[in-house]
Amino acid sequence: MPDRESLLDRFCRYVRIDTQSSATSSSYPSTEKQKDLLRVLVADLKAAGLADAEMDEHGYVMATLPSNIPPGHPAFGKVPTLGLLGHVDTYHEVSGAGVQPQVHRYYDGGDIVLPGDPSVVIRAAEEPALAACKGLTIVTGDGTTLLGADDKAGVAEIFEALWRFHDQPTRLHGPIRVAFTPDEEVGRGTEHFDVKRFGATFAYTVDGSGVGELESETFCADTAFLTVTGADVHPGYAKGKMLNAVRILADLIMALPQHRTPETTEGREGYLHPINVSGNVSEAKAQFLVRDFAEEGLRDLEATLNAAAAWVERKYPGARAQVEIKESYRNMKYVLDQHAHVTDYAEEAIRRAGLTPKRSSIRGGTDGARLTFMGVPTPNLFDGSMNFHGKKEYVPLEWMESAVDTMLHLFDIWVEKSRD
Ligand SMILES: [Zn+2]
Repeated sequence: MPDRESLLDRFCRYVRIDTQSSATSSSYPSTEKQKDLLRVLVADLKAAGLADAEMDEHGYVMATLPSNIPPGHPAFGKVPTLGLLGHVDTYHEVSGAGVQPQVHRYYDGGDIVLPGDPSVVIRAAEEPALAACKGLTIVTGDGTTLLGADDKAGVAEIFEALWRFHDQPTRLHGPIRVAFTPDEEVGRGTEHFDVKRFGATFAYTVDGSGVGELESETFCADTAFLTVTGADVHPGYAKGKMLNAVRILADLIMALPQHRTPETTEGREGYLHPINVSGNVSEAKAQFLVRDFAEEGLRDLEATLNAAAAWVERKYPGARAQVEIKESYRNMKYVLDQHAHVTDYAEEAIRRAGLTPKRSSIRGGTDGARLTFMGVPTPNLFDGSMNFHGKKEYVPLEWMESAVDTMLHLFDIWVEKSRD
């Protein structure tokens, strides 16, 4: 199938370009090399007929595929501008330099030994999703780097969808805005994102996750800052006088429920997670991530932290333990629920692509969630990539094709539903 091969070629071309972002850099984009791919994408968008493609000074690439709905058609002028987004950067803690994509055709269902480092083996027994991949074409790295299917699979799929529209001029779609962004992996993908310039009413990220998945929920997140104030005295004469803030803080942290930590939770369970501590005998501070899918859940966890603070104040008379809460981000579901059709159409599109939609929630934040709160409701469509952020990352080509089909069906549905 020529389409499938062009999708594969494009994907392999993109993953060979090193676009690793950096969590320690303060520049934007965090690494200049992300622009190497972003520049290629501008040229490729123009080749696909999106004449206004351009990169701004921050590295964001945007382009328009104008509506082809003819005047007189019942949906003419009625389909809102829809956005498609993919990120170009790869995970900051695993090398993405010199990626050598390996194409395993007619996968036999067994273990996949990666040739660049034969100690890296994608084991069928450890990867339940592989069982469904027998006979498919699987792309991996060579074992020395990640693959970068997160999110270059999504980027390549968006291109393939644009080319299908190019090759099927009678297939109608409303106005489409495409954006390729840097620095998603370091949580800064929307830092300079110009929502006005983007101009989409609703959008979809095409990023991460297995075939058929649709993500419309993220965590609600707060950060809690705890300050314990003790009383320092010369340790030789401290009996009955010293209040050691270091020990009081340690006591407080160990009194928190140990089943509400990242190490002990999954699925829809929230957690209270100390991420750093500092201080001395007079004063000790700790910072906590507070995560849950509902704001009430955050309140419960924060009440637990406050109760622990009150408990150490009683246990160590004279010591103080103060908690300050700062909001980080909220579950995008709160906004997406007000525009339920945006996610419902995506679910219908997945079904029309012959798949069973799986609504899932992300135990973290996403660029889509931030865009949702910046005024562009943006759920996430699957790109088919698996094991992302590691050397065992893989993506079945047929799943990438399903992602392309899903996007095309999605635009069909928007045209169908936008008549009166
Ligand atoms: Zn991603």
